[in-house]
Amino acid sequence: MLTRDTLVRRDQEDPLAGFRDRFVLPEGLIYLDGNSLGAMPRDTPARVRDAVERQWAEDLIGGWNKHGWVDAPARVGDKIGRLVGAGAGQVVAADSTSVNLFKMLSAALDLRPDRKVILSDRGNFPTDLYMAQGLAALRAAGHELRLVEEHEVEAAIGPDVAVVMVTQVGYRTGRKHDMAAISRIAHAAGALTLWDLAHSAGAFPVHLDRDGADFAVGCGYKYLNGGPGAPAFLYVAKRHHDRVRPPLSGWFGHEAPFAFDLDYRPAGGIARNLCGTPQVLGLAALEAGIDLMLEADLEIVKGKSLDLTDAFADLVEQEMPGVFELVSPPEGAHRGSQVCLGHKEGYAIVQALIADRVVPDFRAPNVLRFGFAPLYIRHIDVWDAVARLKRIVTDRTWDREIYRRRAAVT
Ligand SMILES: *Cc1c(COP(=O)(O)O)cnc(C)c1O
Repeated sequence: MLTRDTLVRRDQEDPLAGFRDRFVLPEGLIYLDGNSLGAMPRDTPARVRDAVERQWAEDLIGGWNKHGWVDAPARVGDKIGRLVGAGAGQVVAADSTSVNLFKMLSAALDLRPDRKVILSDRGNFPTDLYMAQGLAALRAAGHELRLVEEHEVEAAIGPDVAVVMVTQVGYRTGRKHDMAAISRIAHAAGALTLWDLAHSAGAFPVHLDRDGADFAVGCGYKYLNGGPGAPAFLYVAKRHHDRVRPPLSGWFGHEAPFAFDLDYRPAGGIARNLCGTPQVLGLAALEAGIDLMLEADLEIVKGKSLDLTDAFADLVEQEMPGVFELVSPPEGAHRGSQVCLGHKEGYAIVQALIADRVVPDFRAPNVLRFGFAPLYIRHIDVWDAVARLKRIVTDRTWDREIYRRRAAVT
């Protein structure tokens, strides 16, 4: 039996407790959606203001050299690399997750010209699947996007698979793939791996190099707290650098962008995976989020994430037995930093919760998704969120027309 006192005590003993004040959060709001859009670090406005009012306004074009704008994708990329277990020179921050996925998938397919299968799972995020479908159509080389259930990926890796393309933590279930195991099986079968770290980076330690990943992409605005529409990132294992042929061969991936040659020649190293001009203002905000994240020990972050998610799942069952279906894996080791609950009135319940100052999100058709960003969520927030959820369910507060109306973004 989990009690309020236990959670109060966990907050008192929490080594990450001091991080909450480094974010700006609305008073009284329990924000369980940092896996969709992370909270704003307190430092971000000053960092962005400096980039705008001093660097841009005063130095104009000179800012590219003077303020290191031109190096920002590699500089921020290396910092992200420290969060995802990638040695220096293998990560850049640029573009969006969708665009990076397109680039990395194309690069991977080039390395396996005799194979036609892109293997993914039905739990993958739709944009990843859409980008693969678009790329396959563009290449017109007979590629097939083969989808299996999340737990079937390992078994489905066969000799016809070119690339195993999965999101490490499924957005709808929170289920976490075993990166080392999938890499091992894929490599034994002659396939490559492409990981989407959208729900991993900043939530727990990722070990891209150690676990044998070939390619990866990830998102800047979720657990990395880079702000809405923040630049994303991409990773290419060093062993593939020289063989990558960028499908979006823009000038920032050229060997000498300012030579203005008429012909494209790829830059050496990771830089060839850049395309156009760096998103300087977005990178300034992203870097503020990353710098803050780098102050935390990710093993401790992971421990707190497990405590928060375990407590939430347990409390929901303790306080409302049988009301929700636990969609996420029950064992923390197989779960990211979120807990997903199934309920046929999920949409209305989420709207009623938001009206009661608890913010999860809803994922069609029936999933209530609760994300726990360990840097700013307290253990007591778990108690309070479950208490409000229980009241809404018990009083049927959700059962009103205003809570059934669908907004564009859920
Ligand atoms: C959030 C998310 C994205 C977002 O992609 P954008 O290009 O930033 O819209 C992509 N993939 C996964 C798995 C995500 O969770």
